[in-house]
Amino acid sequence: MKKHKELTRRDFVKLAGAGGAGLVGVSLFSLHGFEKLFAAAISETPIVWIQGGACSGCSVSVLNSVSPTIQDIILGEVIPGHRVNLSFHPNISAGQGDQIMSVLRGYAKGEPGKFLLVVEGGIPTKDGGVYCQIGEEDGHGITILQHVQDLAPKALAIVGIGTCASFGGIPAADPNPTGIKSVSAVLKEAGIGTPLVNISGCPVHPDWFVGTVAMILMAGLGALDLDENHRPKAFYSKLIHDYCELRGQFEEGNFAKDYSDEGCLYELGCRGPETYADCPSRRWNNRANWCVGAGHPCMGCVEPEFPYKKSILGG
Ligand code: SF4
Ligand code: SF4
Repeated sequence: MKKHKELTRRDFVKLAGAGGAGLVGVSLFSLHGFEKLFAAAISETPIVWIQGGACSGCSVSVLNSVSPTIQDIILGEVIPGHRVNLSFHPNISAGQGDQIMSVLRGYAKGEPGKFLLVVEGGIPTKDGGVYCQIGEEDGHGITILQHVQDLAPKALAIVGIGTCASFGGIPAADPNPTGIKSVSAVLKEAGIGTPLVNISGCPVHPDWFVGTVAMILMAGLGALDLDENHRPKAFYSKLIHDYCELRGQFEEGNFAKDYSDEGCLYELGCRGPETYADCPSRRWNNRANWCVGAGHPCMGCVEPEFPYKKSILGG
């Protein structure tokens, strides 16, 4: 009987590097639904996900999506007729070195409009952006600033995921030693007009990302109703204070003086009265709870002024 050759790590890396993220999906998320990879008539959209100044929290949040799971998204069980191919992701791509970098650089040099660019994190711009680099070419590191400038004009659309990408967030906090800027500021300075959708949050809610991507793939960019900060109104138009379960306590003047006290958290710095997001109704961790429900004031993490003016850290 013919003996099967074992798949070595080297073989696997080679395969993954050549095939992009369809294979990343299989490697990471077991063989659940594997046969569906071969189902006909499903269109596939590559996602190229790069990270600048960030903590990877938005990646973790999306990868922990419970309903739907990330497997469902990649294997085409969420968006009818579509699946996404996570072609490049700094944390989870199985390929490495020149192989995975050639995938990334291939998109920068390829045809326009063939992939969705997801940018997580703020973009360091000081000293030519040298403080954050992904890979190298001809012996020189490639800055995230350069990647954005190369990939953004070729993308179908750009999704700025998280408050750092959307507005600068914590990495851009004073004194901002690396000159972090938002994705929109970098695009504007470079004169790049590719459509941008921001999904702010620290971290982002997985539904906000999945829902936005699903809408883009199913109905096109024109179907997204965006606010003045390029965010889908579907997720960022409700005033948290109006939907909070402690609103009655606020109206009656029952305010908690310490974190273990009962009552509205306003006097502990809650920013719900000036923060727009659907956290009280959507809730987090598969609808289990949300910040105020867990006894912590809303910090206004989705807002452009976070982390200072609208968080309990400042004013
Ligand atoms: S806890 Fe915050 S959001 Fe809730 S009622 Fe009080 S101030 Fe408003
Ligand atoms: S409740 Fe406030 S701090 Fe918590 S996730 Fe929502 S917007 Fe951010």
